[in-house]
Amino acid sequence: MAGAAGRPATLTTSPASHPTAPADALFLPGPVLLLGAPGVGKGTQAQALVSEFGIPQISTGDLLRGNIARGTELGLKAKEIIASGMLVSDPIVNQMVEQRLQADDTHHGYILDGYPRTLDQAMFLDRTLSESDAALPVVAISIVVAYDQLLHRITGRRICPACKSIYNIYFNPPKQDGLCDLEGSQLEQRPDDTEPVFAERMKTFEEQTAPVVEHYRALGRFREVDGDQPVEAVTAAIKSALLDLRQQGRNA
Ligand code: AMP
Repeated sequence: MAGAAGRPATLTTSPASHPTAPADALFLPGPVLLLGAPGVGKGTQAQALVSEFGIPQISTGDLLRGNIARGTELGLKAKEIIASGMLVSDPIVNQMVEQRLQADDTHHGYILDGYPRTLDQAMFLDRTLSESDAALPVVAISIVVAYDQLLHRITGRRICPACKSIYNIYFNPPKQDGLCDLEGSQLEQRPDDTEPVFAERMKTFEEQTAPVVEHYRALGRFREVDGDQPVEAVTAAIKSALLDLRQQGRNA
């Protein structure tokens, strides 16, 4: 979400361009779920992990928005639902994720960002993974941020349509009002980043996604991370939680 002061929160997705190599070049991240309410920074943190570990980010929100942009049948179905702050139906999202997980780039792991969001999706994912030949079990990391902070993060979020840099008018504004520092393009607000839709998305989160967090907490392969810190500190906390969870798996 908000980047370090004075620059947009775009993170490179190229492993080679990251300034620090992974602590352990042989470290296999495996499947990682990034959980949390809208605006906790799942997308930003997923990109940081992509950069660190060279595994793909699979964001169901991005996949759905891609379908909307391409005008596919799925996109047409999803557009209104997303604009209202409600959830796209489980079968549609499950099928989309199942197909994506079959791609070759998922062998060393992947970061699921924004999925699962309902208990049915979590059950579907657990079943799919238990039937696969994945080397490692899924681990879940939940990012936690207080409601008021999320409200400002979401309603203040602006995105450059050209380079996808993310700004926030409260915490990380562009140098010139409404314009991308890098591209000069007019910044855009996601249609579901308005206050009424945010309230609906939070309600949806509490009712449908909070039980998913509890599901993975109960399974034990779970950590909670404080998301109300600078982006880099959250990334460090997530990496440390992930290393810890994989170490715990080796010792089990
Ligand atoms: P996000 O970019 O993750 O905030 O997702 C934006 C919107 O896409 C959500 O508010 C939902 O309407 C829809 N969406 C994304 N992921 C899912 C999912 N796993 N299940 C159902 N709907 C989803």
